[in-house]
Amino acid sequence: MKLRIAHMYPDLLDLYSDRGNVIVLQKRAQWRGLDVTVDKITLGEMPELKDYDLIVMGGGMDREQIILAEDLGRRRDQLDDAIQSGTVILGICAGYQMLGHYYQTHTGTRVPGLELIDIITIGDNNRVVGNVVCEMEIEGEKTLLIGYENRSGRTELGPQAEPLARVLRSVAYTQKDNALEGVRQGNIFGTYLHGPLLAKSPDFADYLLRLALRRHDAERLLTPLDNSLEGRTQQKLVRKWVGA
Ligand code: GLN
Repeated sequence: MKLRIAHMYPDLLDLYSDRGNVIVLQKRAQWRGLDVTVDKITLGEMPELKDYDLIVMGGGMDREQIILAEDLGRRRDQLDDAIQSGTVILGICAGYQMLGHYYQTHTGTRVPGLELIDIITIGDNNRVVGNVVCEMEIEGEKTLLIGYENRSGRTELGPQAEPLARVLRSVAYTQKDNALEGVRQGNIFGTYLHGPLLAKSPDFADYLLRLALRRHDAERLLTPLDNSLEGRTQQKLVRKWVGA
């Protein structure tokens, strides 16, 4: 069995080392002895998306979002088929916003989204910038989600979408709507956390891998790894940003 990862628009959507998330997924799979391929897909390249087990889209500025909106729109049916077949999608910041109904920039330009998840995002003149520590639950177990945000968009979740995590501490924590972070709708995950997020949130990385392996009925291949280094880093960041 081969685990296939697609990295969408790596040339346009790669703020704050979002590419690192793809590397973390690849490495954590390889450390389990899994055969992994990573394909980069950008404007005009149209491989069959349901052939992928995991699709990752990073963050970008408004300018990039406007550039890729049309190209992304052409992939909507393929992405929908992929999701129906169990493909797992992770969207970060711009990648997250583009999965929803639309993203309206702070200057009022409305960029159409894929309408795959029930969210809308409106840009604000005040940016939210800083480190964030969140808590999320994965199959009944609490774990940390740690990253960095820099965005103007404020996202509202509709009834079909559920929040991904609860904010314990955001350096830019000023708005009530920041109390909840990200989204989950089926196998689609969205978050504002860059960093790369998955290097600091190994349980979430493994959860994405587990869901991707579920597609092949091969979850058993996700054998345990030693996360003590990641755990120590998390504790250091929690002490620094949240307090003792
Ligand atoms: N352009 C979007 C915003 O500012 C996304 C930014 C990002 O990906 N960091 O909200």
